[in-house]
Amino acid sequence: MAQRIAVVSGGMGGIGEAICIKLADAGHKVVTTYSPGNTRSGEWLAGMKSKGYTFYAYQVDVTDFDSCQKAVAEIQSEVGPIDILVNNAGITKDASFRKMGKTDWDAVMRTNLDSVFNMAKPICDGMAERGWGRVINISSVNGQKGAFGQTNYSAAKAGMHGFTKALALEYARKNVTVNTVSPGYIATKMVLAVPKEVLESKILPQIPLGRLGKPEEVGALVAFLCSEDAGYFTGANLAMNGGQHMY
Ligand code: NDP
Repeated sequence: MAQRIAVVSGGMGGIGEAICIKLADAGHKVVTTYSPGNTRSGEWLAGMKSKGYTFYAYQVDVTDFDSCQKAVAEIQSEVGPIDILVNNAGITKDASFRKMGKTDWDAVMRTNLDSVFNMAKPICDGMAERGWGRVINISSVNGQKGAFGQTNYSAAKAGMHGFTKALALEYARKNVTVNTVSPGYIATKMVLAVPKEVLESKILPQIPLGRLGKPEEVGALVAFLCSEDAGYFTGANLAMNGGQHMY
């Protein structure tokens, strides 16, 4: 199997880490990005190294176009041409619409949606020139079905999939595929911090499989989409939510 160079934004987070590991297990060279506010990048890299994973890491503010351009240029000159881009960085700032301020709207749109443009823009033309590329955008089930208190997040995550489809059309003839992965509730620190009674009475009953998803399951799907075998998927939205999208 060909070794590719993969960039995973927010790769030190719950889902991002699992994506980095699965891509490395598939034989790829993996570069993660971390935010300017991240104070544990060295510790994370050392922890991964002790498990046998050597990752490259670059500081990027995904909301800032210049920061993304600069980091991409450094990665391409120091690691090599980027074949795989996983737009995984994201945040939530939940509030009912009545209470949501413009700052929370802007922060979520910039981190979840502008980021996808900011990272793809300096990378996709190179993929097209080399005739191979994979872009995976990590959206959310709430981009498809909406969620109370998440007008900002649902709009940004739905927007990501519109971007996926349009970009997929533009780059299809260059053998660059673009897909969305929309996870449901995944057992990351954020979701596990939800009180047990809320999890059991409100969240799990909405999930036909009756459990949270595992970060490794998202990582495995992303790694598959990056493989040669997945070359006929493009512009698709892969729902991984235990069946929650049927509710
Ligand atoms: P985490 O908070 O663990 O990870 C999010 C990552 O985004 C962090 O690693 C963070 O980097 C990075 N990030 C945030 N803001 C910026 C920024 N301005 N610049 C650069 N990086 C930034 O969350 P998850 O792992 O749970 O989520 C990963 C993705 O999956 C997100 O897009 C989320 O919306 C989506 N998702 C998550 C679900 C879940 O159940 N957990 C369900 C559905 C979708 P750093 O650590 O360096 O600060």
